[in-house]
Amino acid sequence: MFKHTFVWLAVCALGTMSCQAKPSDKTTTAAATPAAKTADNAAIMARKQVPVVCYHQIRDWKSTDSKNAKDYIIQIAAFKEHIKMLADSGYHTILPDQLYAYLTTGAPLPKKPIMLTFDDTDLDQFTIANPTLKKYGFKAVYFVMTVSLGRPHYMTTDMVKKLSDEGNVIASHTWDHHRVDKYSHNSELKIIGKNGKITTRPVDDWVTQIDKPTKKLEEITGKKIDYFAYPFGIWKKPVLPELQKKGFKIAFQLADKRDPDYPLMTVRRILDSGYWSTQTFGKSVKNSF
Ligand SMILES: [Zn+2]
Repeated sequence: MFKHTFVWLAVCALGTMSCQAKPSDKTTTAAATPAAKTADNAAIMARKQVPVVCYHQIRDWKSTDSKNAKDYIIQIAAFKEHIKMLADSGYHTILPDQLYAYLTTGAPLPKKPIMLTFDDTDLDQFTIANPTLKKYGFKAVYFVMTVSLGRPHYMTTDMVKKLSDEGNVIASHTWDHHRVDKYSHNSELKIIGKNGKITTRPVDDWVTQIDKPTKKLEEITGKKIDYFAYPFGIWKKPVLPELQKKGFKIAFQLADKRDPDYPLMTVRRILDSGYWSTQTFGKSVKNSF
């Protein structure tokens, strides 16, 4: 989580753009459109949830890591043990298309299904997580924040393409990790010129954070991008119809309750905390869904 702040600052530090694109007064809450298929939603809500696990950084702790940060940093040996435990316990990784088919039509899933997801484009997801998963024939979902591509400690576009080519799913995680509930169609981008002069131009956060990054990922992978994860896991009801209109099949949050009107836009995940033993992780996978 802490790293998101870092990214934000890093963007600001580049001096070309301000991160303080403020939603204007005209911010509208999307009219609560009645969910189109109530019966389907009830059926989706009634199905047993599939465990979905969320990872960020996979690396050993440093003395500078804060207490809170460690929830989001799983140490390398622990990660390898957790994944081995899943394999030894007979779990099978599934991908979002399988989850979508299961939730919407009841399509069968393999025995002991689980989905593994990785947020924020961290380099160790490519160097540590991917080879570990390959040992067990596991596939995963990578939620890429496009501003980070090619920066130090983050994946490059070639790495993202390779993960996709190897049968993993690349999914959308905004441009620079701004919260979805803060988006406005009438936002302002501050541009700081070389002489320090600040000018502004109107922007639509939904285009900057959703449309453009999703298109970029489609260009990189050559595949349609159908899935999304909320930065910080944060969402509010008015954003759900907007995301559905953008064409996402599933939007993944963290562990809050699902919205019964938009169960596909609020699919739950748990963090595999850096503090968890393999046993605690195993119990949480069983009991949280
Ligand atoms: Zn994130």
